[in-house]
Amino acid sequence: MASKGSFDVLVVGSGASGLAAAVSAARAGAHVAIATKTTVQACNSAKAQGGIQAAFGPDDSPELHAEDVMRSSHETADPPLVELLTADAPSAIHWLEQLGCSFTRENGGYRLARCGGASRKRLLQVGDRTGHAITKALREAFEGGPGIELPHHALVSLMPKQAGWRAAFEAPTGEAVVDAGAVVLAAGGRCFAEAATRGELSTNHPNATGEVTRIACEAGAESRDLDALQYHPNGGAWPPTMQGYSIPETTRAYGAVLLNAEGEEFTDSLGARDTVSQAIVDEVAAGRGVETPDGRPAVWLDTTRIPEADAGVSLPYMLRRFRGAGIDPLSEKLYTYPVLHYQNGGLVIDTNAETTLDGVYACGEIAGGTHGRNRMMGNSLLECAVFGRRAGKHAATAAR
Ligand SMILES: Cc1cc2nc3c(=O)[nH]c(=O)nc-3n(C[C@H](O)[C@H](O)[C@H](O)COP(=O)(O)OP(=O)(O)OC[C@H]3O[C@@H](n4cnc5c(N)ncnc54)[C@H](O)[C@@H]3O)c2cc1C
Repeated sequence: MASKGSFDVLVVGSGASGLAAAVSAARAGAHVAIATKTTVQACNSAKAQGGIQAAFGPDDSPELHAEDVMRSSHETADPPLVELLTADAPSAIHWLEQLGCSFTRENGGYRLARCGGASRKRLLQVGDRTGHAITKALREAFEGGPGIELPHHALVSLMPKQAGWRAAFEAPTGEAVVDAGAVVLAAGGRCFAEAATRGELSTNHPNATGEVTRIACEAGAESRDLDALQYHPNGGAWPPTMQGYSIPETTRAYGAVLLNAEGEEFTDSLGARDTVSQAIVDEVAAGRGVETPDGRPAVWLDTTRIPEADAGVSLPYMLRRFRGAGIDPLSEKLYTYPVLHYQNGGLVIDTNAETTLDGVYACGEIAGGTHGRNRMMGNSLLECAVFGRRAGKHAATAAR
C-alpha cells in the first residue's frame, strides 16, 4: 500500500465546498492535499447554473434570508447553521470576488433575481454558469499555492490514528494511504446513484454516488435527514438530449410560468421547490398534464414570457443548449417534469463544520442541517462557500 504522504489537512472532494475548504486551510498556513475521485474539475458544483443567494438588496437582510430558509425547510433546518449561512453570505461573496469570480452587475450593483421560496430578490448570478465561475476561481486560487492535488483517488476508508486520521484510497496504482491531522469531507451527495437505482433521470454528475457518507457513518459519524431527497421542479423532458437537464429556476425568476394542458397556471411558479414539484406531479396525476413525443409525463414551462434582454444576460447557456437541440425557448414552450436533484440531509455538523467525529469536518451537500428537509435554490453554492471556508479554517487550526 503506497503512502501519499502526511498533511495537516486532507480534503476529500473537489467541488465548490472542497475547493473552498482547501483554499481556506492553505491560507491559514496548513499543508493541504485535496483528493478526488476522478479529475479535479469533475463535480456537481461546476454544473450549477442558476446562482447563489446573499442578502444585498436594499429591502433585504440576513434575517429575512434566514426566515425564508426556515420557512422553505418547513422549520426543519438547524437555526444556528441557518443564521451563520445567511449572516456570512455577503462576506463569502466578497471572498469569491477577491479570488476572481465576477458576478453579473447592473445599475451599479449586483443583478439580483428572486428565486423560489424567497421573499426578496437575492440571487446573484454569473450569467447562467455560476457554478463553473465559482469552481474555476477557487481551483485557480488553490493551484496558485503550495497545496497538493490527488486526482483519481477515491476514498474507500477512514481510520482514526493516535493523532489525526488515516484515509485509504483506490488510486490508479492500487491502494494508497494519506495521513492527516484533520480531514474535510466534501464529497457531495448521492442523487446520481439513487436515480439509477430508481430508474429515474437525475441532474447529477456520475460521481455523485454517496459512498463517502457511508464511510463516515461507518467510522461513527452521525447523520440526519438522509431520506430527504429533492426533486428539481424543472427537469428537461424533451427533446431526448435535454432529458435530465435542469432548466435553471431563474427562467421562472425572469417570468416563465408553469402551465397545464389547458394552458392554465396551476401553481405559484415561485413557490418552494417541494411545493412546485409536488404540484406538477399532482397535475399530471389528475390527467391535466401533457405527454412528450416519446410518451413521458410533463407540463409546460412557458419560457416565451421571458423578456429577450433578460434571457440574453441571465440565460445564455440554457438558450444555447435548447437551440442546439432544435427548440427556441423564447418562441416555444418547454416540456418539463421534476427530476432527482439534491440530497437535503447529510452528516451532522456544528457551526465550525465539524462532524460528530473529532477532527473530521464536512461541508457542502454531504453535510446536513443547513437546509433541513427542503433546500432553497441558490443556497447550496452558498453553503459550499460559507461552510467550506469555515471547515478549512477550523481544520487547519485543529491540525496544529
Ligand atoms: C445541474 C445542477 C444545477 C445546480 N444549480 C444550482 C444553483 O444554481 N445554485 C445552487 O446553489 N446550487 C445548485 N446546484 C446544487 C449545487 O451545485 C451542489 O449541491 C453543490 O455544488 C455541491 O457541492 P459539493 O462541493 O458539496 O459537491 P460536488 O460539487 O458534487 O463535489 C463532490 C466532489 O467529491 C468527489 N467525490 C465523490 N466521491 C468521492 C470519493 N469516494 N472519493 C474522493 N472524491 C469523491 C467528486 O468527484 C467531486 O469532485 C445544482 C446542482 C446541479 C447538479
